Amino acid sequence: MKKTIFCDAHIHLSHSKDPHFGENEPYFCVSSCHSQEEFEFLSGASLTRALSLSCAFPFGSGVPPLGSPRSSASLPTGSATAIYPCAFISYGIHPQIVNPSFMESDFSSQLSFLEALCKEKKIIAIGECGFDFFTPDYKASAREQEIVFNEELSLAKKYNLPLVLHLRKSIEKIFTYSRELKKIPAVIFHSFPGTLREAESLKNHGVNAYFSFGKPILNGKKSALDCVTNLPLEDILLETDAPYQTLKGESETFPQDIKRVYEKACQLRNMSLEEFSEALYRNFLAAYSVRTFTASL
Ligand SMILES: [Zn+2]
Repeated sequence: MKKTIFCDAHIHLSHSKDPHFGENEPYFCVSSCHSQEEFEFLSGASLTRALSLSCAFPFGSGVPPLGSPRSSASLPTGSATAIYPCAFISYGIHPQIVNPSFMESDFSSQLSFLEALCKEKKIIAIGECGFDFFTPDYKASAREQEIVFNEELSLAKKYNLPLVLHLRKSIEKIFTYSRELKKIPAVIFHSFPGTLREAESLKNHGVNAYFSFGKPILNGKKSALDCVTNLPLEDILLETDAPYQTLKGESETFPQDIKRVYEKACQLRNMSLEEFSEALYRNFLAAYSVRTFTASL
């Protein structure tokens, strides 16, 4: 029997207390990190052991072959079983850590570290990055967030990498960037905060956008439910953002929670898990250009 492949488009494995995915579980994820230490942990053998991952970041040449992005290429069958569970790594400067003192002390070293990772093809995407105007404190560093984001955007263009975006109370801000966002291979809107109309508008602006949704769809968040129900299937990704984005009464989100998110999305789309997960697997590989990711240890 064919196993269901679960793809988590955005997670923080190094922050999880108990990330468990067993050997040979058909699971792919993109784990975000935001410091050199975190990157070293994620890309090192310790994480691979801790999670019984077949590979943490260095993916080698074992990438399952697929057709062009957004095509209806058939899925690899046998070839994929040897390589999961598998975590890819993205690296970005999180907007919540950006403030005047960060700019003075850490910004330039973080940026050069990020550029080295891009150059050496050690990350699959840049992010999460973007804008957070959720609290007055965060909003106070709007100008600095913009400076940081501009640099990350330039790197994404220069190294042809997707961006994973974090946007809180700042969706309108991203529209001012649509001309620039068109120049990068894909933009993954993590926990997309906008409406269906905003998602459609981003696509109409020519952005190769993917909209990712997590546990808020289990919590009745209207705009997210509307998007998951009505967006073209090829634009959708799912995520946990584990250990964050907990529901009421939960202390932590676990990687395994991706199964609940899939279940809910299947209901909304009125599709079987098998059919839906195949489509999402295709979207995941296309969004992160997995086919062209060939770095090795
Ligand atoms: Zn996150």
